[in-house]
Amino acid sequence: MNFKSLQLIFVVLFLIAISLFGTYCIFFKKTGEKIAEIYQNGELIYRINLDKTNDAYTIEIKGHGGEINVIEVEKGRIRMKESNCPDGTCMRIGWVSDRFLPVVCLPHNVVIKIEGEKNAEEFDDKAY
Ligand SMILES: [Zn+2]
Repeated sequence: MNFKSLQLIFVVLFLIAISLFGTYCIFFKKTGEKIAEIYQNGELIYRINLDKTNDAYTIEIKGHGGEINVIEVEKGRIRMKESNCPDGTCMRIGWVSDRFLPVVCLPHNVVIKIEGEKNAEEFDDKAY
């Protein structure tokens, strides 16, 4: 084994360490409060604290052209339960519980996003 291959191994290990650290940070962020924001036509129509949702419930969102989206909210997660959109992609996404995967219903212009609350930042301060 020559010096170059040792160097390569070192770089690979370093990259693995960085990605593990990134995953670790993501897990820490997940412990912050989860706020789901529901947008219709770019306007924020609902803001839900998923961590404080103890009983599951549904929200019906109606569009002007007869569009219906039924959103189901549970503790820590949210999903598009029903939709009469032509593609149904939004329902196939299933439950989401973090901020990396927004649920988008393109035909109805309805978006569900998850935002961390400021707790997540406090957590960062403690972690470092
Ligand atoms: Zn849809």
